Amino acid sequence: MSASGRSPARRARPRRRVYFFGAGRADGRAEMKELLGGKGANLAEMTRLGVPVPPGFTVSTEVCSAYLRQGGRIPADVEREALAALAKVERVMGRRFGDAEDPLLVSVRSGARASMPGMMDTILNLGLNDATVKGLAARADERFAWDSYRRFVAMYGDVVLEIPHERFESRIEARKAARGVRLDVELDGADWERIVHEFFEIVEEHTGRVFPQDPEEQLWGAVAAVFRSWDNDRARRYRKIHGIPDSWGTAVNVQAMVFGNMGDDCATGVAFTRDPSTGDRQFYGEYLKNAQGEDVVAGIRTPQAINRASRRETQASLPSLEEEMPRAYRELVRIYEKLERHYREMQDIEFTIENGKLWMLQTRTGKRTTRAAVKIAVDMAKERLISREDAVARIDPHALDQLLHPTLDPNAKRDVIAKGLPASPGAASGRIVFSADEAEARAKGGEKVVLVRTETSPDDIHGMHAAQGILTARGGMTSHAAVVARGMGKCCIAGCGELRIDHAAGEMQVRDLVLRAGDVITLDGSTGEVMRGEVPTVTPELGGAFDELMRWADRLRGIKVRTNADTPEDARVARAFGAEGIGLCRTEHMFFEPNRILAVREMILAADGAARERALAKLLPMQRGDFEAIFRAMAGLPVTIRLLDPPLHEFLPHGDEEIAEVAAALGRDAAALRAKVEALKEYNPMLGHRGSRLGITYPEIYRMQVRAIMEAACEVAAAGVRIHPEIMLPLITHERELERLRALVEQEIAAVQAERPGAKVKPSIGTMIEVPRAALTADRLARHADFFSFGTNDLTQMAYALSRDDAGKFLPDYVETGILSDDPFVSIDEDGIGRLMQMGVRGGRATRPGLKVGICGEHGGDPKSIRFCARLGFDYVSCSPFRVPVARLAAAQAALELAREKRRKRAR
Ligand code: PEP
Ligand code: MG
Repeated sequence: MSASGRSPARRARPRRRVYFFGAGRADGRAEMKELLGGKGANLAEMTRLGVPVPPGFTVSTEVCSAYLRQGGRIPADVEREALAALAKVERVMGRRFGDAEDPLLVSVRSGARASMPGMMDTILNLGLNDATVKGLAARADERFAWDSYRRFVAMYGDVVLEIPHERFESRIEARKAARGVRLDVELDGADWERIVHEFFEIVEEHTGRVFPQDPEEQLWGAVAAVFRSWDNDRARRYRKIHGIPDSWGTAVNVQAMVFGNMGDDCATGVAFTRDPSTGDRQFYGEYLKNAQGEDVVAGIRTPQAINRASRRETQASLPSLEEEMPRAYRELVRIYEKLERHYREMQDIEFTIENGKLWMLQTRTGKRTTRAAVKIAVDMAKERLISREDAVARIDPHALDQLLHPTLDPNAKRDVIAKGLPASPGAASGRIVFSADEAEARAKGGEKVVLVRTETSPDDIHGMHAAQGILTARGGMTSHAAVVARGMGKCCIAGCGELRIDHAAGEMQVRDLVLRAGDVITLDGSTGEVMRGEVPTVTPELGGAFDELMRWADRLRGIKVRTNADTPEDARVARAFGAEGIGLCRTEHMFFEPNRILAVREMILAADGAARERALAKLLPMQRGDFEAIFRAMAGLPVTIRLLDPPLHEFLPHGDEEIAEVAAALGRDAAALRAKVEALKEYNPMLGHRGSRLGITYPEIYRMQVRAIMEAACEVAAAGVRIHPEIMLPLITHERELERLRALVEQEIAAVQAERPGAKVKPSIGTMIEVPRAALTADRLARHADFFSFGTNDLTQMAYALSRDDAGKFLPDYVETGILSDDPFVSIDEDGIGRLMQMGVRGGRATRPGLKVGICGEHGGDPKSIRFCARLGFDYVSCSPFRVPVARLAAAQAALELAREKRRKRAR
């Protein structure tokens, strides 16, 4: 017995390191992307499907990792395996590698597990040397042969010998100048032969060695260079940005060359099996006759359309492949249909036609716009290629932002000057303004403006409304600017730390660039990029496919989706997006309306209870009006209204000038008013006199709010509108606090009911769980609550000791350096905050089985957090109106995932 306990005879064969494909047989399969990379796995799969693929072999990613680990040596047994595979390629092609008469040439390409476009290197025409170039000339012609040779020497020189590409390019330019021609195609065979020899001189000069003539030596040199390219700076940077582990390594694909540039019966092209921008079921692509792949990219010639149906205006005078090479085109159609049926996905394919024969070089899942992704998923479900569940699962909920907001024209130039937090998606351009009043005034005059502030406060709401977008230097993902902008569906970049704003001078500075009020900037709220000047945007349209996909999603999900809305307008927008009620109406936002703020200030500054009651009496009809309109907008659906939450000093005037103005309006002494403002200031307002603490100290404020809710509800109900009001208490920390305030709310409800004997309105009363102590004592709180709503903004702030308004200064470093994988204000920190939530739900339901539980923090619109809430058994999530479709889709995907897990568990 061996040490491992297995007999040598039964030991598994060592894992293959080189995988052959060709002539209908392949060692690999589509599922083997880890080993073969995306390209290699698909080449193997296409070969198995009987699609004509030039034969070749893939050296696995494991060899790359071993090569890099072992200091740059290709193991001898890998070389043996590769040579055996090469012999098979020779048999399929009927040509030999290095044969002077009719040489087999190969391409050597990288191919990682995840696509890394343009990040690594490719070498074509490998196998050419001074002898085989003559054989190639005999097969085609002199010009073609020497042109191929110079391409090979330059690519090999660049990739393997690390000679700057420009050194080769400059020789071509010099030759063209000497011959008095402008284009490469105007050079003849003798020119290219001369250039090849000049290239050799460059190689010798640079490396001190002659260009390798032995095809095998060329092959190992190329394979090793592709392995090394995994570690180049470009590739490393790309991996960092896209979160691809360094340990994966790349595979190398060595494949027989086929030529699209051997004459007029040759071509090369790329195609999408459906239109990648609209998603229409239209085979779509471009090709060039008598050309190699790189010529298509070079952009010197206008590529022709692949068929009549997809021909654009600029291609009108050129025939399509369908007309020019009908046989090859028909075969291409047959193949793409087969590939789409097989992969059940839109494919992006590359092909070459050599002397009339079609070869497929690549197939992969095609990149597309979100609009196209939705259309393709819905169409494929209708074509029964995939199920409706698959269609729903395929769309990235985050990507829906592209459909719901304007986005930057992807083809437009961007001059990025700074980067902040991507606080609210969408894109906007406008003139810089530094104050809310100016934003409003300029917008009234028809100008587009971007409001730039160090941070925003409730005082800025009117300016935020008027602006196209908002940019702040401070604040995190749940700062005032972020939350309010998201609610408005307006683009916002918050916490842009490089920004220095001088409000007084009317200018802002990013490093040494100074921009002034009136200069135009553009914001991309999805990436956090601030750009100088105007960048054009594209406005999306929601189509039938989107509605259909949303309907399918709704049938699958278990968790409801409500919205955070403070105005009837927000409520209507959210309802149109499919909201099933309001999960959070922040009543304080109504207090800032210009026509009420004075009454609010009067209430706060009141000298005694009676004066406060008088001010509250002025606010009552206004609040009642708000609630009536909101109940009507949400007819038939639940509406959670939260009683006043922020510390009172937020409503008070700042600065001498404003204080003087308010004092005059209220008929008060400015000095006394200043003293009162000072007295209300707190060292730690977020932990200060706010939330339900206001209701304990000033019960009359909450009484007024409950009365306004009740009177509005009775009014609307009397008009025959079905309503479901829910009254919610903020920042509850203690059972007795909740008990006391519930009693107060019930008393006021009873008082209104007594005044209106016929009315049957009976609101439920619940609490926010947004303080760690509340989550820990949820079993006790549930004795006095009909529902819980998790305020994960404050819960994260308090349990993580992370200021919502200051985190922008340091939190991005935590995410960038990998200490945190996500910003905890964006995605729930499941290990920490998530545990508190779990305790909260369990505790609450232990006391009150079936307790209704929701979330109204900003996480309610984040797909990952929604999945987490679904797992904890939440009844609903609540998010800003423009996030509602994102949440509906994410909730459906969460349900699919949970069902899958359950099935797996049962099967076990
Ligand atoms: C919360 O804290 O999560 C919440 C919803 O309340 P606010 O953001 O208004 O503090
Ligand atoms: Mg809160």
